[in-house]
Order: sequence, then structure tokens, then C-alpha cells
Amino acid sequence: MSARFDVDAALRPALRGMEGYEPIEPPEEAAARYGVVPEDVVKVDGNENPYGPSPRALKALAGGYEAHRYPDPDQRRLRAALAARHHIPESSIVAGAGADELIDLVFRVFVDPGDRVVIASPTFGMYGFGARLYGATLVDAPRDEAEWSIDADALVDAAEGAKMVFVPSPNNPTGGLLPRDVCERLLASGALLVVDEAYIEFAHGESLVPLAASGNASLIVLRTFSKWAGLAGLRVGYGVMPRPIADAFMQWKQPYGVNLAAEAAAIASIEDASLLDERACEIAGERGRLEAGLRDGEWLDPAPSEANFLLCRMSDRLGGDGAALREALARRGVFVRFFSDPRLRRHVRISVGRPTDTDRVLAALEEAGRELEGTRDDE
Ligand code: PMP
Repeated sequence: MSARFDVDAALRPALRGMEGYEPIEPPEEAAARYGVVPEDVVKVDGNENPYGPSPRALKALAGGYEAHRYPDPDQRRLRAALAARHHIPESSIVAGAGADELIDLVFRVFVDPGDRVVIASPTFGMYGFGARLYGATLVDAPRDEAEWSIDADALVDAAEGAKMVFVPSPNNPTGGLLPRDVCERLLASGALLVVDEAYIEFAHGESLVPLAASGNASLIVLRTFSKWAGLAGLRVGYGVMPRPIADAFMQWKQPYGVNLAAEAAAIASIEDASLLDERACEIAGERGRLEAGLRDGEWLDPAPSEANFLLCRMSDRLGGDGAALREALARRGVFVRFFSDPRLRRHVRISVGRPTDTDRVLAALEEAGRELEGTRDDE
């Protein structure tokens, strides 16, 4: 008999006892578990685009690329299209399999075990995941719990001497933008600043892409086709950064991260940008309607958001358990996101869907609210 490979002993020490990323469940699985027919599901747990890909992207996906060939490791066509879209040099752009691959690349290229990586929680889980995976020391400058605003002094203090700082703008899951003055103070700290603009197309704020491309700041801006372009399932995102950083990323990225179908759909989406911008505007408008509907109701208090989701605090009448609310809504076919972070125990995050989705969310919440009202824990 051959000797067994001992996984526990072989696992890198940085990974022992650590938790992985907390992903969302495929809707078919959740639907089956809650006894809901898939057609009745309102999927507002993943901050996806309810309108799906643009017509040109769908057409591009139907053919026109040679799936038996490897993609261009230099991403020439996609980088050229992105450069034209943003009026920046191609040499400042690196694309990847989602913004997630760019986050991984930042760690892969720059982070040694023990390096300090700074976040302002609650925030997107992928930065902590990267820190665990690469053995970095995660330093948190938590947001205040009333408004979810950044504690600028604490964040800038933490950034001093750190390798890098990750801040999404708008932030996931809280929805607010990174204030410009905080951004400037972070850029002066000497750490590499990564501003993740995955949701910027739904916001009124200005993008930092031009500043990142100028090469005059230690700044990487991340963008994605998952939200604005409705291509979450194809996995394509990109970063804009000073050229020396882009050169290092091109050298050390996986050669074929962006597959041919994703590349074709992304380029076609850029050609359909005005339609996708209009849809983003509609989603931002619908966010206002969802927010107003929630405020009019008795159950949830949404935080102001510039993204395609609302982080909502549960009314005391609902009891203190966001997981229970998530379940009660799921039984009614409405899938929202709940987080295990103790500060978000009384919260759920609801993505903005189509107007009919908003109606379903509000109706299901009314029923779930009545159901849970009796079960609250008066601790
Ligand atoms: N950044 C933020 C802030 C996000 O919320 C998400 C998606 N949940 C991502 C990046 C990942 O984007 P992508 O799908 O392009 O990997």
C-alpha cells in the first residue's frame, strides 16, 4: 500500500485553520432548498446586472472567435478598446478573469508574508481572502457603525508603513464613495492604494482612472464588466495603473486569464457602452425607488448607496437575526445577502433589480416582517 498524502501536514501554515471566501450559492441550489420554482426566484444577493449582457455582447458570444486557439496573452484588442474608452494609454491597462484576478495579482506580485495590508471593514471579502492566502497581516481601520463612513485618521495611520490599502468606491457592502480628501491623504502615505471601482458606473462620483493612468500616483484602479456590462459569469475585469506596475503585472499574470469568449463579449460591450450606461442609469433610478419603498415600510432602514445594492438595517421589531430574515425572504423566493460579520448581524444587503423585482422584494418583506415580528429576541 502506498503512503497517504497528509493534507493537514502539507497545507501551508498561512492557510491552516483559515476560512476561505464566503461566496453566494447558485440560485438553482438555493431554489431547490427553499422549495421555490427557479422561475419565481428574485435573485438580489449577488449585485449582478438584472438586464444581462448587451445585445452586441450576446451576438459576439454566439460566434466569431476561435475557441480552439489560446487567447492573446498580451490582451492587445481588449486593452486597445479599453484605452479608447477611457482615453488612456494601453500600457496602463491589465485585464484579468474578473476584478478578482487583479486583486489576486496585486497580492501575487507585491505581498510577502508578514506585509501589512490595510482595509476599512465592513468591505469586500476578497481583500481579506488574499491577505490570508498570501500570509499578509491584515490591518483594519473599521468604519463607524452609524453611517459606515471611513475613520480617515485611523485609516491613514494604518497606511503608514503598510504595503498597500484596499478601498472600494463605492464600498461593498455599505455603498458609500471614498471621499477625495481621504484618497489624497492615503496617496501621500507611501502605501500602494488600490481603489476598487467595481460599482462606479452606478455612482455620481468621478472615477480615479485618469489619475491612475497618469502615472503620478501610487494608485491602481480596478474595474469590472460583471456589474455595468452584465458579464459576471464570463469573468472579465481590469486594472488601470502606472506603467511600471502594469509591466510587472503583465509579466507575472497567468498568461491566458481572459478567455476568448469573455474578451469578445467585453469588446462588444464597449461598443454598446451608451446602452449599458443607460441601463446603469435605470438601475440607479430603481435604487431610489427601492430605497423609498423600504423607508416607507416598517422593517428595513437602508444606508445611502451609490452602488447597485442597499445595505439595510433591520428594525428592532424584526428581531436581531439577519440570517432569519434572509431565510424568511428566501422561502418567498427572494434571495438577499447576509454576512457573518458580527457587526452585520442585523443587516441584509439587497441588490437592485428590475422594477418588478423591487415590487416582489417589498411584498415579500411585508410578509416576512409580519412573520418574524413575533419571534424577536429582546436581549
Ligand atoms: N470588487 C468589489 C468591490 C466587488 O463587490 C466585486 C464583486 N462582488 C468584485 C470586485 C469582483 O468583481 P469581478 O466579478 O470582476 O471579479
